[in-house]
Amino acid sequence: MGYCELCDKNFGSMGALIQHQRDSPRHRYCLRCEKPFNSLSALNQHIRGSPKHHLCHLCPGSLDFSSRDELDSHQETVHHYCNSCDRCFNTSGQLRDHDISDHNMCSVCGDYFQSSSNLKAHLITHQPKDKECFGCYKKFSSWSAMLLHMEYDGCPSEVDEDEIIGIALECYQSKRYRCDYGEYNFECPTCASPFLQMSGLLQHAESDACQESLAQGRPLSKFLHFLRIRLA
Ligand SMILES: [Zn+2]
Ligand SMILES: [Zn+2]
Ligand SMILES: [Zn+2]
Ligand SMILES: [Zn+2]
Ligand SMILES: [Zn+2]
Ligand SMILES: [Zn+2]
Ligand SMILES: [Zn+2]
Repeated sequence: MGYCELCDKNFGSMGALIQHQRDSPRHRYCLRCEKPFNSLSALNQHIRGSPKHHLCHLCPGSLDFSSRDELDSHQETVHHYCNSCDRCFNTSGQLRDHDISDHNMCSVCGDYFQSSSNLKAHLITHQPKDKECFGCYKKFSSWSAMLLHMEYDGCPSEVDEDEIIGIALECYQSKRYRCDYGEYNFECPTCASPFLQMSGLLQHAESDACQESLAQGRPLSKFLHFLRIRLA
């Protein structure tokens, strides 16, 4: 049995009632939610407020999607739309460039980062692991990661933090990066930022925090060369 309040009419079964509410011009029926409404404005109000409906405000006919994800991917691919800036771009390439420069998106995997320096640090993980430990055969994507492995990670060659510091201070380049004040062992040859560990100083040189780098001829590149010979 079913009863339609709006029409004050009884029906022999629920199926017949639904059939009536779906087909009668007096009713507006939401097919997705299987719910009848008494007027077009009631139906529209339902669509705007329901979590089962997601309207694209950029489409002329307000296309309706069943989930937030579907709406997001529609707006991204069709409108090249950036949600956080509420802005459309002409091409997907422009949206991508915008995401990379304004939202710190990784161009390799598409993840987003809080700051450009976080992104920069993350990008190192996509670099090929082509830097082989001087003490064993393990490979790393950055020299600072290799040093960290030597300092703390129990490299099979049994080199450790103290030995790295000793070798670093023995190197003839050490006058360029040794730190003579406080508890610090090293400092950046360019900006004099102090570091306890060689891995920290190398990470600083690998980042864009300052001009210092591991380019050939720079003090830290010469240190790495010295370290390789000492551990051979
Ligand atoms: Zn009815
Ligand atoms: Zn609905
Ligand atoms: Zn749309
Ligand atoms: Zn944006
Ligand atoms: Zn990435
Ligand atoms: Zn090793
Ligand atoms: Zn520096």
